[in-house]
Amino acid sequence: MPPSSIEDIVSGRCEGESVDIRGWIYRKRESKEVIFLVIRDATGIIQCTMTRKNPFWDIAKKITIESSVLLSGTVRRDKRAPGGLEIAVEKLEIVGLAETFPITRDQSEEFLRDVRHLWLRSRKMSTIMKVRSEVLRFVDDFFREEGFVEVSPPMFISSACEGGATLFGLKYLDKQLYLTQSAQLHLEALIYSLEKVYCVAPSFRAEKSRTIRHLIEYWHVEAEWPFADMDDLMGLEEDLVSYVCQKTVENCKKEMEGLGVNVSKLIAVKTPFPRVTYTEAIERLISKGFKIEWGEDLGFDEEKALAADFGNPFFIYAYPRQIKAFYCKTYRDDPDLVMSADMLVPRIGEISTGGAREDDRDELLKRIRELSLREEDYDWYVDLRRYGTVPHVGFGLGVERLLGWMLDLENIMDTIPFPRTIRRFYP
Ligand code: ATP
Ligand code: MG
Repeated sequence: MPPSSIEDIVSGRCEGESVDIRGWIYRKRESKEVIFLVIRDATGIIQCTMTRKNPFWDIAKKITIESSVLLSGTVRRDKRAPGGLEIAVEKLEIVGLAETFPITRDQSEEFLRDVRHLWLRSRKMSTIMKVRSEVLRFVDDFFREEGFVEVSPPMFISSACEGGATLFGLKYLDKQLYLTQSAQLHLEALIYSLEKVYCVAPSFRAEKSRTIRHLIEYWHVEAEWPFADMDDLMGLEEDLVSYVCQKTVENCKKEMEGLGVNVSKLIAVKTPFPRVTYTEAIERLISKGFKIEWGEDLGFDEEKALAADFGNPFFIYAYPRQIKAFYCKTYRDDPDLVMSADMLVPRIGEISTGGAREDDRDELLKRIRELSLREEDYDWYVDLRRYGTVPHVGFGLGVERLLGWMLDLENIMDTIPFPRTIRRFYP
């Protein structure tokens, strides 16, 4: 018989049966006559008990926290067991005896990050990683249901997408190249054959400051599609985010509640999301006492203050040209503004940026020159406007920011197994 999963046993399906399980020692408690071993596998935990007359007593005695084990026994109901079921141990084998596990109660965040490779075994971290996996699945499901084709962009790039300040340089054989900041420009090339395309891939930003919402390596959900305008863009983005929120609550309610997440906040994420223009956002901020002028970029504090008003995801769109990237399309009746939209959420601020891409060759060249970018770096990109150009839109959404908001996590570092930040790259 194959081993049972602890989830199956806890569900009550195996009551009265004999089962084999395998896992790790999560807790151990012993008295003179009984040893209680709580065993953990990927699906849950269960209490296993053994009395002194058991032939495996000596093995149970020497077993340590986090040792890996094979265990057989009978599932029985016991009011005193957490969850009401336990296993009466009949056989116990140690696979790997653990040394004294360094993680005990009440340890600092800093220490837990130093031993991240071990801390990932905690209930908190493993629950977050399961929810993360579900979120990624629902992102895929959404795009496929909408008829998007998944594509695989390059990680090495020769020219910037989001500006030089956060560009990560590296040696590529004997050439100087960069790690990608966004797949957008390459996705744009693919819309001319596949039309609706998306990817979920790492992006790299040489972020020099420590914040609760920046990583150096993060996972980026990006999509581009043709024959579309700003309404289509914001419509698809809000459909995606509300779909992911609803589905995740539906599938991971238990896990989320275990993490202390307020799921009603996510159930309340319904379309359409409120939309305000950048100009309206500035007016709101001035009326709240912020010292900000039209034309300035919104910082973390400004974004948080605006997001607190809405309490749910919302969009800010129509930004001043000077604070947005070269590829943003200008409003033809107001060239000081560009068709760019950010989605914001409470506590974190921006979780996505999207917009219409400049589809006119001359306008694009004008912007490249205005920003003193090296024209030859963008030849191929300008080419896309030479052969069958088309109005098109796209966006990028940070997986970790989305998850951090959904799960009310204090720090973006806990949304990814091995966070990379200015100070953290080990383990
Ligand atoms: P910010 O101004 O907050 O640094 P950005 O405007 O530079 O972000 P974009 O280039 O618009 O970021 O990237 C698209 C999305 O990718 C962002 O909305 C965000 O969700 C995510 N993102 C960007 N930079 C990071 C980062 N360093 N760590 C985690 N996620 C990020
Ligand atoms: Mg942005």
